Amino acid sequence: MVQERINFLREELNKYSYNYYVLDNPLISDFEYDKLYKELEELEKANPLFITPDSPTQRVGGISTGFKEVRHKYRLYSLDNTYNYDELRKWYEKITNEFGNNVELVCELKIDGLAIALAYKNGSFVHGATRGNGIVGEEITQNLRTIKAIPLKLFEDADVEVRGEIYMPKTSFEKLNEENLANGEKPFANPRNAAAGSLRQLDSSITAKRDLSMFTYTPIIERAKKQPKTHYEGIQYVKELGFKVNPNIRLVNNIEGAIEYCKEWETKRFSLDYATDGVVIKVNNIAYQNELGFTSRAPKWATAFKFPPEEISTTLREIELGVGKTGAITPVAVLDPVNLAGSVVSRASLHNFDEIRRLDVRIGDRVLIKKAAEIIPKVIKVCDSPEHENLPIYQVQRECPSCGEPISEVEGEVNLYCLNQKCPAVLRAKLEYWVSKEAMDIDSVGPSVIEKLYNLGLVKSPIDFYRLTVDDFLKLDLVKEKSANNMYNAIQESKSKPLSKFITALSIRNVGKETAELLVNELPTLEDFKNAEIEKLAEIDGIGEKIAKNIYEFFHNEHNLQTLEEFKQFGFEFNNSAQIKTDELAGKTFVLTGTLQSMTRDEAGDIIKSKGGKTSSSVSKKTSFVIAGENAGSKLDKALSLGVIILNEDEFKKMAGIE
Ligand code: NAD
Repeated sequence: MVQERINFLREELNKYSYNYYVLDNPLISDFEYDKLYKELEELEKANPLFITPDSPTQRVGGISTGFKEVRHKYRLYSLDNTYNYDELRKWYEKITNEFGNNVELVCELKIDGLAIALAYKNGSFVHGATRGNGIVGEEITQNLRTIKAIPLKLFEDADVEVRGEIYMPKTSFEKLNEENLANGEKPFANPRNAAAGSLRQLDSSITAKRDLSMFTYTPIIERAKKQPKTHYEGIQYVKELGFKVNPNIRLVNNIEGAIEYCKEWETKRFSLDYATDGVVIKVNNIAYQNELGFTSRAPKWATAFKFPPEEISTTLREIELGVGKTGAITPVAVLDPVNLAGSVVSRASLHNFDEIRRLDVRIGDRVLIKKAAEIIPKVIKVCDSPEHENLPIYQVQRECPSCGEPISEVEGEVNLYCLNQKCPAVLRAKLEYWVSKEAMDIDSVGPSVIEKLYNLGLVKSPIDFYRLTVDDFLKLDLVKEKSANNMYNAIQESKSKPLSKFITALSIRNVGKETAELLVNELPTLEDFKNAEIEKLAEIDGIGEKIAKNIYEFFHNEHNLQTLEEFKQFGFEFNNSAQIKTDELAGKTFVLTGTLQSMTRDEAGDIIKSKGGKTSSSVSKKTSFVIAGENAGSKLDKALSLGVIILNEDEFKKMAGIE
């Protein structure tokens, strides 16, 4: 019985490992893999006679094919891991039992990428290899040479070997997947797989095109000016030698300090532009490390705390259709509730019908869902299961779930649309968007007020907000004089909002906040919008033909023009010049990255625009300055590689004349 279960678990784990390491195509989430692994480990511990050398618990990682194999000079181990703070305390207790209380620890983010080893002789990079099974890896020196974060020459004539993690920034991963999809290729499941796939290219010029970077986390110093006695000193030293190390490393006095670090990063990790799946905790003193040594697969002086899963599988029960402000129909997955990254999830995005077709999602399937940043979870794939084939293929519904009118395809768009101008769901979504922060920012009028106004027939389209009187608000239950006045005044004040906010609020298809700002830079008055020809619109940097056409059509629709006239009669200022107070930053383009301390990135962007400068979301040779806050990621790397001037927050404030 036990042996059967052990065999079953081994077979399953081997299958998952093969798909994960060799095919770069994980079939289940890491959390689920780790659960099965732990079960096998415990069964083997209780029944040591059944342990065999080929059990997944006795091995490190996996090995793939296609490259020359190399034997590592120093073995590369895996890490023991836990999802539980008490287990961390137990691990630390074993260490303090040996070395006394308060053994210093180093906490590092566990970068979710690919481990590699790099060898340097006389300060020059000589070769690099993947971890493989820890003893033998793949020689990928040529590909590694294309990665800018890997120094080819150190600042010192030293012989060292370092280990580190190759990763792909999240933004680059998403861009790569978009390109893959556009070219009809399969997207990568996550940044780790994208990094692994990019690194194991037989043609280095492909690797060179992918945005890969590396954090160095283990130095082995063979010959150099210094011989660090602690891990922390070692990390500082490799930084001096020219390697990139993660800026969030922290030295703590004991395990409670490490737990605090884990708790802090459990949420803060979402602001990083690279994936981390946990925290690695290492004993700082190298003499202690040597004394503690290794098990067959992992060091005893280090352990990993893994964050609650960002990916998990569950059953898809239904596909609900939502209707957005532009009439776009968005399918939403209704799921069996599961705990994901610390919250219970029962709905996830399926984007559009093309995505359902691409994934071949069927109602009743087991699906893998993923949560990243604050974004709502999304379905990323169907899990391998024999039942899938017996489920009916999903048939796209042809009527709008709100008004019942037929839904239509729109040329050049992947979404299907409800084009009924009077569809209640579209009207409501437009009203909610009108008052949202991104648009007119009327925060005293929330969704529940809108619902009541709509149900009473007082507001059907945004122009109706401006017909409302204080008495109209008093007709809503629970609304008293003071809040009625507040809502009325907030609506009146919105008439002097900048033109870019007004354009955003109009809910023109594919025209969000950033696009509206780009447009207003070139078309400073509403009249300019009405007069712009498609060709002129399409020439604006960042505006493609599709958006140009949507804008042109919006401003050449009789009904829309009439409504715009009404807005004007209500006293709208369509103010653009008021936004630009000075031209100190005219002609300069800024990119903001990382977290700023004294303001949000949006606020910094507003300051730049108010002084005549422009902001952009990506770094290019045309970028004048990159403003880098804390935890700046790939944009900072790119700025460094292009030689763009980098400002810290204080320098920016000085430049903008704020301090
Ligand atoms: P691991 O990823 O749990 O931990 C070891 C690795 O952590 C090191 O090799 C290194 O690459 C990395 N690392 C990142 N930052 C580090 C730092 N600061 N210091 C030291 N190391 C750092 O172990 P593993 O052996 O690479 O992989 C096993 C794990 O892979 C499993 O626990 C599971 O989560 C996952 N896996 C998943 C599947 C699946 O199907 N989903 C299959 C196989 C393995």
